[in-house]
Amino acid sequence: MAGIKRIARFLGKDGEILEGVVHGEGAAAEIEEVSGLDGMLQGGRTLGRPRPLKEVQLMPWGISRKILAVGKNYRDHAKEMGSEAPQSPIIFIKPSSALIGHGETIELPPSSIAKEVHHEAELCVIIGKRLRRAGEAECAKAIAALTCLNDVTARDVQKTDGQWARAKGFDSFCPVGPWAAVGAPWEDAFVRCRVNGEVRQDGRTKDLLFSIPRLLAFISAGITLEPGDLFSTGTPSGVGPIRAGDEVEVEVEGVGILRNPVRARKG
Ligand code: ZN
Repeated sequence: MAGIKRIARFLGKDGEILEGVVHGEGAAAEIEEVSGLDGMLQGGRTLGRPRPLKEVQLMPWGISRKILAVGKNYRDHAKEMGSEAPQSPIIFIKPSSALIGHGETIELPPSSIAKEVHHEAELCVIIGKRLRRAGEAECAKAIAALTCLNDVTARDVQKTDGQWARAKGFDSFCPVGPWAAVGAPWEDAFVRCRVNGEVRQDGRTKDLLFSIPRLLAFISAGITLEPGDLFSTGTPSGVGPIRAGDEVEVEVEGVGILRNPVRARKG
């Protein structure tokens, strides 16, 4: 999409995390390292020569920052979960230890811990400015970029635990990526999930029960949001199980496709 800049985090030769701008599509895509981007992912200067995107390991956004999310934020999803649309937003936190990047593996815990793990395709916003007791207009301006997030959830654990920290917090249960799309519109973007190429979820962010600025204002009334924090905006209807051997894709309009294989955890 014209006017959208794609910024990826990727692993450098010595294990350091670098940032780069992605150019081109598919097998011909390249990444050009940049340094000195500001919180809104603007500015910066390019370093070195572009290299093929397929040669780098993409990393998730949000490392060592907090990941906030909202439950039941699409009416049809609330319904499929057997609940009414909530009267006020249900906010929860996923741990940064659950983060993985594009292409990394979602590991299913052994069935003695969790028997039913679901995909949840979501549009995720990357916060670019500190938000403390901020109004909706200020919150809208603090959205630095969009990315795709899979809010992987152990549905049986979510029900039996009664609260969601463990069910949504297992290692590898937060794939984010493939990059940050700066300038992508969030008001009405499609959010899709495919498992092994089959469409399982297909929603639009115009159907969010609570708008993104309203949710950010609601959070920042009590919890300060910092640049680099992630906020995931809820999942449309169609959630369902993923199994070892599956490949899950989350696609958000204007962003791209986040793809992760699913495997059983060893041990
Ligand atoms: Zn979710």
